[in-house]
Amino acid sequence: MTEDHYPKGRARLVSPVSCDGFVGIRRITPRGKPVRTHVRAGDIWLTGTTNGKYEFSEPTLMRACELSAVGEFSYVERERPSIKPDEVLVRIDRVGICGSDIHYYQNGENSGNVVDFPHVLGHESAGTVVEVGGDVRKVTETDRVAIEPGLPCEDCSYCADEDTYHLCEDMEYMSSPPTDGALVEYVAWPARYVYPLPESVSLREGALVEPLSVAMHACERAGVSAGDSVLVTGGGPIGQLVAEVAMARGAGQIVLTDVVEEKVRLAEERGVDFGVDVTTDDPIDVIHENIDENGVDIAIESSGAEIAIETTTDAVKRGGDIVFVGVPIDASLPTDVVGIIGDEYDFRGSFRFSNTYPDAIEGIRTGRFDVDGIVSFERGFGETQAAFDQAAEPESVKGVVRVSDEL
Ligand SMILES: [Zn+2]
Ligand SMILES: [Zn+2]
Repeated sequence: MTEDHYPKGRARLVSPVSCDGFVGIRRITPRGKPVRTHVRAGDIWLTGTTNGKYEFSEPTLMRACELSAVGEFSYVERERPSIKPDEVLVRIDRVGICGSDIHYYQNGENSGNVVDFPHVLGHESAGTVVEVGGDVRKVTETDRVAIEPGLPCEDCSYCADEDTYHLCEDMEYMSSPPTDGALVEYVAWPARYVYPLPESVSLREGALVEPLSVAMHACERAGVSAGDSVLVTGGGPIGQLVAEVAMARGAGQIVLTDVVEEKVRLAEERGVDFGVDVTTDDPIDVIHENIDENGVDIAIESSGAEIAIETTTDAVKRGGDIVFVGVPIDASLPTDVVGIIGDEYDFRGSFRFSNTYPDAIEGIRTGRFDVDGIVSFERGFGETQAAFDQAAEPESVKGVVRVSDEL
């Protein structure tokens, strides 16, 4: 399409929002009379006027995959975000599907956060920097980066301590309403929260730095150290990665439980000592017979399942540590207070993470952490809905969307 397709004249953008596939342009005739004309969105873009002629530039629209209602995605054109001086524009390549995304998709809410439709999901993302703001020194154009999805306020007491910014009450976290997520072509993000990936780390691995970070933080909260025996309840992405990080920290024997046999087998293939399908075997028996008759040193609850939460106190020895990272729909802590007192259990919560990205990326580079091995499938951007449906199936561990694919 060339300039000649359009009438000559001064033009200025009326609205960047497309309507019926067209973008409204107000054209000012040489005599100063405004005339409406239309230009097809996506083909070409009019940016201003020079000497009575249109100026053409690259399209500034992008594709976004919106959750438009419960159980329904739609593709729309949105304005490509522009960057502030401290930001970079990232062309998104891969987005991992998180359990929280599936809750939003299926129920329109997750842990009390309710979606205001339309809403963009996805917070496990990586892509390529295509534009950098004037103040940015950390990355340059063409760098491949993982995006840390939380933006703390940087102003409260939690943010003042660099280890607790993840507890900021004003955190904007991608895909947690009302903050949009990464299932879009381009994201503008502060350079401070993007991390360059070394050549040997793929963009898919970059996207999975986020769940790996959740697992790293849970193991840190549990204080997993050399020789500790660990029970991991739940063989989803977080449970699999908690086991991975615990192994990397030198844990002794590790038991992983789930109700889905495929997840138990995967954990065993990935190096867990005992995978227990709780539909057929009792993890307490396995622990007592094979590890220690008093129980394990640490339990990290990664399923959110009520039955697994209850199991933790039976599984852990006196004086042991119990960390909760799997988010239940609605469940209380083990309530045998006398038992908790007598056995001196330490209960801890583990929420997201802080300062994990550099170590996570380095750990993937050196092979200390395998994140690729938890991926069950990948699908293209145009199949996002099918990807969510597949990710929700019990035997899926981690689904990934290739946002970089053509629609
Ligand atoms: Zn997540
Ligand atoms: Zn804050």
